[in-house]
Amino acid sequence: MGGRGEEDFWGRDYANPETKEAFARVTIYLTQPICYDCGMAEREPETLVEAIRHFSDPDVCLDFMVSLRWPDGVKCPTCGDEKVTFMASRRVWQCKGKHPKRQFSVKVGTIFEDSPVGLDKWFATIWLISNAKNGVSSAEIARSIGVTQKTAWFMLDRIRLAMQTGTFEKLSGHVEVDETYIGGKARFMHPGKRKAKGTARGMVGKVAVMGLLERHGDFQYRIVENTKRRTLHGEISRAVAIGSHIYSDALASYRKLDDEYIHKVIDHAEAYVDGEVHTNGLENFWSLLKRSIKGTYVSIEPFHLFRYLDEQAFRFNNREMTDRQRFAKVAASVIGKRLTYRELTGKGSAVWRTPKGGRIKPWPRKSPASSSSSRV
Ligand SMILES: [Zn+2]
Repeated sequence: MGGRGEEDFWGRDYANPETKEAFARVTIYLTQPICYDCGMAEREPETLVEAIRHFSDPDVCLDFMVSLRWPDGVKCPTCGDEKVTFMASRRVWQCKGKHPKRQFSVKVGTIFEDSPVGLDKWFATIWLISNAKNGVSSAEIARSIGVTQKTAWFMLDRIRLAMQTGTFEKLSGHVEVDETYIGGKARFMHPGKRKAKGTARGMVGKVAVMGLLERHGDFQYRIVENTKRRTLHGEISRAVAIGSHIYSDALASYRKLDDEYIHKVIDHAEAYVDGEVHTNGLENFWSLLKRSIKGTYVSIEPFHLFRYLDEQAFRFNNREMTDRQRFAKVAASVIGKRLTYRELTGKGSAVWRTPKGGRIKPWPRKSPASSSSSRV
């Protein structure tokens, strides 16, 4: 890979200028050469161990979050007033204004809100998930940082929310398109039973995912209701700039793209590669995704699929960054994103939608968390 210029460092996903600014602040903070306390030169965290050590001090975590959220001074998240008093013993502020929620912590209005888990554990987990090529399971997180699996599961999904891509810019140049099915248990179902259910082979409970990959560029995905021509064409015209080269397999749904694109087809019945005509980039992405779902997550509910896709897409699209840069990018995105327990478990409405706003059908759902508590 390679060939992405400096201006592409952010990829196409983080168009939000606030996130960009926050990222710049995180970078400055993390590369701060002088220790605040002792004035000695300090190495920036480059590895997990260094990051854990760095953020093991609650005051370092607090400084880090403050520098991220309020670079020009702490403001009340409710009224915006700067007249706030810091209460050092509890590490919270109190606003002088007369309104509810006068006391606030640095977590308010971030993915950490309402979570009693310490920022040291949050940052360690962010570091792990930003950089683990095959993902990290909630069981591993639970063991590593000493929380319950339910808590770890909730933390991971909140972090995936921070990894979620924002606005999409169109892909261009040479773009591979391919679709795959993820989830479901059809493979283990008795053939008779499968027939009785009247479903096509291998399709039970599976979700169709369409991938679009700009060569040497970014990956995007769409969860689609079906793989009919109309659906796939619609997604392509929304995602890919007219005039681009498109590479696909011989699926009939991809026919007749020639009016707007330079479309080349690789017939997998004959060959997998014909010069530049192949979809190997996407095949690799799918196999990495499926390996991480199978090996790390054991099972995945279709309901949660887009969060895993966000996670995998984030690591893929930022593959040229260092571990610290990837960490910084997620850390910069924790502000202004919240996910309540209700939304996470589908009791609210937010997660019933794909990132593009399309509806995801309500699958039967079984979460590791059975209680309805909103705290973790
Ligand atoms: Zn206030």
